[in-house]
Amino acid sequence: MSEQTIRKPLPTTDGDSQALWDGLKEGKLLLQHCADCGHVQYYQQSLCRLCQSKNLVHKPASGRGKIHSYSVVHRAPGPAFKGDVPYAVLLVELEEGPRMISRLVGNDFDALDFDLPVKLQTVKISDDVCLPYFSLM
Ligand SMILES: [Zn+2]
Repeated sequence: MSEQTIRKPLPTTDGDSQALWDGLKEGKLLLQHCADCGHVQYYQQSLCRLCQSKNLVHKPASGRGKIHSYSVVHRAPGPAFKGDVPYAVLLVELEEGPRMISRLVGNDFDALDFDLPVKLQTVKISDDVCLPYFSLM
């Protein structure tokens, strides 16, 4: 490996998303619940996307969802991902309602299909960052 290893871009935290990243380090996917209208949202924002309330509370998701759509990536989007291909990108519909783009743990691509149940699996990618991936149930 060369000394100039290209690193993958890491997410940056802010006041709205800090709880999300902290939760993932504990194996939890935190979703924002609006205390005024009940809307559940992912990703984190300062306002409810439905009623614009600031009265948002973080609650852990069940970690269960289903595949709304997916794609298997064979050509890396950049040099930092060359070692990862092929991998599957998932659009997961969480049990709580929000959809999130994520990634499949493993490479059982032939088993992928729409509406298949998946479960959360946090994957540590650095000392400070765990990402929410999903595995087939
Ligand atoms: Zn709301």
